[in-house]
Amino acid sequence: MLIGLPKETKDHENRVGMTPSTVKALTRHGHRVLVQSGAGEGSFLSDAEYQSAGAMIVSRAEDAWAAQMVVKVKEPTAAEYSYLHRDMILFTYLHLASDEPLTIALLEHGVTGIAYETVQTEGGQLPLLTPMSEVAGRMATQIGATYLQKTYGGRGVLMGGVPGVASANVAILGAGIVGTNAARVAVGSGAQVTVLDINHDRLKYLDDIYHGQLQTRISDEYNIEEVIYNADLVIGAVLIPGGRAPWLITAGMLPNMRKGSVIVDVAVDQGGCVETTRPTTHSNPTYELDGVVHYCVANMPSAVPRTSTFALNAQTAFYTLRLADEGLDAVRKNLALQYGLNTHRGSVTYPAVAKEFGLSH
Ligand code: NAD
Repeated sequence: MLIGLPKETKDHENRVGMTPSTVKALTRHGHRVLVQSGAGEGSFLSDAEYQSAGAMIVSRAEDAWAAQMVVKVKEPTAAEYSYLHRDMILFTYLHLASDEPLTIALLEHGVTGIAYETVQTEGGQLPLLTPMSEVAGRMATQIGATYLQKTYGGRGVLMGGVPGVASANVAILGAGIVGTNAARVAVGSGAQVTVLDINHDRLKYLDDIYHGQLQTRISDEYNIEEVIYNADLVIGAVLIPGGRAPWLITAGMLPNMRKGSVIVDVAVDQGGCVETTRPTTHSNPTYELDGVVHYCVANMPSAVPRTSTFALNAQTAFYTLRLADEGLDAVRKNLALQYGLNTHRGSVTYPAVAKEFGLSH
């Protein structure tokens, strides 16, 4: 199969859809890969690395897009719609439920759109979303530690303290993938960590592996208030699948929090779990309310594109190879890829997207 790897065009998007190792696996299987010159630049992957993995470098985006399958990171922008063509397979994050123009463009051009975010295993896991939650979770603690510094508006508290001085109190709301990864870095930095969740099994898991190095609490209003009023850093990491995040911290609670404390609301992409959360950007990531610093960037992993590119590829490569080897048969044979199928030959094939736009599937 002929496979294209275009350079990402969205603002601040420095990830790339395939690493040279994925390209090498494809060329070893007899496929041809066209890489747009500079596609890997933002992740410090050079054209020469792709070439030695067997790719052919093309200078124009349209040449990479002309392939039978195009592998990307982000959904196509309006400027890229003209590159879409009939019967191509597009394997990337699509987020169609919130993007009607793109859905229409994919249908009009008869594109087979396979969305990373809806690829789902039999156990209900979302393997192509997980790596970005792992990145965001670990980053959340690092970022919180930075904004706790007085020069960044924070309380001036060092995460691990020093001998004779208490370490920072970190509260993590949600013990899923983001929460578990945030906890790992916070415990590692020597902070005093409390994780809250409504799911007892998640708390039991953390309790088992950390042997008293962190505290777990059931997430209810009483416990949340008690924990956040004593916290230096609060990390919002809850998710209600398919729904809006609940407001676990209300505006009325903020004045009771420590002055100079920091909230990193990772759940901002689902509306945030703090009433006062509003989305921010990498260029202007924080604002302060009632003396509490808020960090609410919705695309945190794009700040560490090299790690994120490799993390994403570690999970996507398996599916990319199957699609290249077997074409649409791979979708027929593989349940996870069936969940990933969002559009095919002019029809929406993912129920939630069809429902959103009042279409049949
Ligand atoms: P997850 O499903 O693995 O974990 C969510 C956890 O929240 C679950 O353990 C669930 O039991 C818990 N939860 C639900 N309601 C709760 C409540 N009332 N109190 C406490 N806990 C509750 O999800 P995840 O992968 O960890 O993702 C968490 C959030 O982070 C999602 O909104 C996700 O979209 C977001 N995210 C954001 C970025 C970013 O860049 N900002 C990146 C990756 C993920």
